[in-house]
Amino acid sequence: MKKTFRRVLVTAGPTREMLDPVRYLTNRSTGEMGYALARAARQAGCEVTLISGPVGLKPPRGVRFVPIISARDLQKACARFFERCDVLFMTAAVCDFTPGRRQRMKIRRRERLALSLEKTPDILAGLAAKKKQQTVIGFCLETEDWLNRARQKLKRKHLDGIVANRLAPSHNPFGPRKIKAALLENGGSAKRVGPQSKAQLSRALLRWAQSLRRLK
Ligand code: C5P
Repeated sequence: MKKTFRRVLVTAGPTREMLDPVRYLTNRSTGEMGYALARAARQAGCEVTLISGPVGLKPPRGVRFVPIISARDLQKACARFFERCDVLFMTAAVCDFTPGRRQRMKIRRRERLALSLEKTPDILAGLAAKKKQQTVIGFCLETEDWLNRARQKLKRKHLDGIVANRLAPSHNPFGPRKIKAALLENGGSAKRVGPQSKAQLSRALLRWAQSLRRLK
C-alpha cells in the first residue's frame, strides 16, 4: 500500500440548481475552504484537480480546474477524476434538493408558487462505496448537535475522515475568515482545531490525510 499521496481531488463551492432559465436554488458556500486546500496541496507538490461550483475566486496556479454548475455536473466530474486520485477532499456544498426538470420558460409572477423538489444523489457516499487506494474526506456544516451528526455521516457514508463545521450566532464559517472545526476519524475522538485561517487549516488537513493513509 502506497503511504504518501500525490494526486489530490478537491471539490469546492456550492452547486446551483436551475428552476427556470433565470432562477436557481443554491447555498452560502463561497469556495474558500476548497480553494485554500487546492492551493496548499499544490504548494506541497501534489497534482491537484479542483472541481468547483460557481464562486467569485480565481483558481490557484498549477491546478487542473474543472468548473461545474449543478449537483448532476459535479457527480459526472467526480466520476471522471475519482478513480485516479489518492485523496478526495469533498468540500463542495452540494444542494440537497433540485427541481429536477428545469422549466424551459421563465415562471410567471403569481400569488403563490409551490416548488416540488427531489433529493440529489449523495455523490460522496457513492464515491466512498467504490474507494480502493483513495482516502476519502468529507465536510459537513451543522447548526445543532454538530459532532454527533458528523460522526453519523462519517459512518453512513463510509468515509476515512470528516471535517465538522458549526454555524452558530457566535461562529460563521463562511468566507475568508478564521474558523474552528473538528476532525473526526473512525475509532478516534474528535480533534478540535482553530480558530485558524483556512490556509492553516488546509495544511493541517493535508497532514491529517497523510496520517489516515498510514492507518489504511
Ligand atoms: O449534506 P451533508 O451534510 O450530508 O454533506 C456532507 C458531505 O457529503 C460533504 O462532503 C458534501 O460534499 C457531500 N455531499 C454529497 N452529495 C450530496 C450532499 C452532500 O456528496 N447530495
